Amino acid sequence: MNISDQPIFRFAPSPNGQLHLGHAFSALLTQELAQKADGKLLLRIEDIDTIRCTEEGIEQMLNDLDWVGFAWDEEPRRQSNHFDDYQKALDQLKADGLIYPCFCSRKQIKDAATGAKDPDGAPVYPGTCKHMSPFTRDKHMAEAKAFAWRLDMDKAIQKVGDITWQELDEELSHAETIKADPAAWGDVVLARKYTPTSYHLSVVVDDADQNITHITRGKDLYFATAVHRVLQELLQLPEPQYYHHGLILDDEGNKLSKSKKSLSLEALKKRGWTPEQIRAQLGLDEEDESAGED
Ligand code: GLU
Repeated sequence: MNISDQPIFRFAPSPNGQLHLGHAFSALLTQELAQKADGKLLLRIEDIDTIRCTEEGIEQMLNDLDWVGFAWDEEPRRQSNHFDDYQKALDQLKADGLIYPCFCSRKQIKDAATGAKDPDGAPVYPGTCKHMSPFTRDKHMAEAKAFAWRLDMDKAIQKVGDITWQELDEELSHAETIKADPAAWGDVVLARKYTPTSYHLSVVVDDADQNITHITRGKDLYFATAVHRVLQELLQLPEPQYYHHGLILDDEGNKLSKSKKSLSLEALKKRGWTPEQIRAQLGLDEEDESAGED
């Protein structure tokens, strides 16, 4: 295989809480798929939230991943080392007139909201700051303690036109073309006054910088792919393929969350679980070591 054709996968956790079974599933499934595809597997530490992501938390995350049997290639990329790259992307969008500063508080947004909800169930931004005069905007920017940079989604959609993504099946052998609906998200936040990025912006910049060809992640990020595809088009970044896997649910059928410490990998380890039991619990069977032998 030509090295430039080698598929590149990534697992990209945010170390702002303890890893749980859902992370283990995503990491190990990605590893399995990368191995089957003869691909490279990268680890990216999504630590743009420099307050909640501590060195201790990162250390713990790396230990948990190692313990559960996730083995990555190359030095992990840490987003906190790449703020300049995100700033460049943001500057490009600014130069293209595609972002604007928003000074609304959460309460102001709630009060002015139209009732429309984004795919995550949050109110769609009603556009209050979108049409401010340049004078008022500059004044607010100089005086405001905090503000957010929002993508002007209408303008963005006008620029990129209809957008799709390629959703692979679980064998990664077949892709379906999915029509993206970025308008459902409204004017998403791409950066803040003192943080030149957000999840959406850094994820597309990083996936491009790391030459990721296959993005395997949970179904909770399925609809966010619409925003990522718009940003990839606006920033002229390559288009990876996606596979959104099912989520591990708790006994009540809810998505696992970092706040439920009882389900953290650390807690399971302390209770005496082994990595093999975790794999079995997740339905990820060990490869048959004797395969191919006489
Ligand atoms: N950092 C994100 C998370 O932990 C995942 C990002 C991605 O896979 O695109 O939910």
